[in-house]
Amino acid sequence: MTKLQEFYFNLRYKNRIEATKKYLKEAEKIKNKKEKKEFLISKNKSVNLNYRVNKNFIKSELLKLTNDEKYIDNLYEELIGFFQEYHELYTKYYNEERSDLFADFYGFMQWYEKHKGVCGYCGITAKELEAIAIKRGNELARLGFLTKKAKNFTLNGKQKRSLGELEIERKDSLSNKYTYENSIFACPICNNAKSNLINEKDWRSIFVPAVIKFYEAQNKYTHMHS
Ligand SMILES: [Zn+2]
Repeated sequence: MTKLQEFYFNLRYKNRIEATKKYLKEAEKIKNKKEKKEFLISKNKSVNLNYRVNKNFIKSELLKLTNDEKYIDNLYEELIGFFQEYHELYTKYYNEERSDLFADFYGFMQWYEKHKGVCGYCGITAKELEAIAIKRGNELARLGFLTKKAKNFTLNGKQKRSLGELEIERKDSLSNKYTYENSIFACPICNNAKSNLINEKDWRSIFVPAVIKFYEAQNKYTHMHS
């Protein structure tokens, strides 16, 4: 990363992530559950408030580094472009528990390149999941459960998991940490069903073959009726 890119990354993402990591550590010391919850909520609020950055703020900060005002607009667009993919993933997947994953730009993007687009257990792709969500959404609309045709991966039109997107999953529920080694993408079915109830080895050997069969049947259904 160039100095400017690093400056921008810190301003827009890392400062906030580091502040979050810090209060999560502090929270570990609080034994009382209610106190802990209140502490986390208030810290989360203040971090959201203190690290909210907008275009004008970023531009004014950039202006402190270079005196060339004309250059700032181009520079800003360049920086947006450089971090675009990270930004989309951050918007979609970041939460406070995942702060370690997102704090290192190159570490995260490397992890992403390795795992993207496919469930690390059953192998279904993001595209195939989307096709099922479209099919199911259309069927829900036809039956009157959705007011208009929209993607919905669920059987009952509920919001949760409706997009049928890949989720970031922790393989080992015991350590339960979001590290690069312990995290993969998983489809909603693998992630939801494995949960913290089935270990990785059993999930792969006993359940994944059935998940694959299930998805194969979904695809046949899609072909038959389209
Ligand atoms: Zn899967």
